[in-house]
Amino acid sequence: MAGHARRCGHCYKPLRATARADAVYCGPACRAAAARSRRHFEEAVRIGFAIVSGDKDDVAQRCPVCGHRFFPGHGHRRDAIYDTAACRTAAYRARSRAAEPLREAVTGPTTVTDTGTATRT
Ligand SMILES: [Zn+2]
Ligand SMILES: [Zn+2]
Repeated sequence: MAGHARRCGHCYKPLRATARADAVYCGPACRAAAARSRRHFEEAVRIGFAIVSGDKDDVAQRCPVCGHRFFPGHGHRRDAIYDTAACRTAAYRARSRAAEPLREAVTGPTTVTDTGTATRT
């Protein structure tokens, strides 16, 4: 046996025999994917740390439609305003129906307590 085959740090497929001695990934696609997932990991750590240290409000975004807390950049665009596509659509519909008051389309202001239970005001 020619020893342990080195494996790609992302997809874990064995590296080609022609791979450079310091190669970590099997190709540029895996290197890019690994960099992407590393960024996601760092973001998750940052959010987790913020929650642990009580700075949740600094990273949490409140959806103006349903009042749910969510974390932008975690399955959302970083500048996301709404937590789900449904909420975004609801807000868009409410905006486009300019003649009707916005209140009719949304459920009204909600207050989210620390325990996450929403109470209608
Ligand atoms: Zn790979
Ligand atoms: Zn929402």
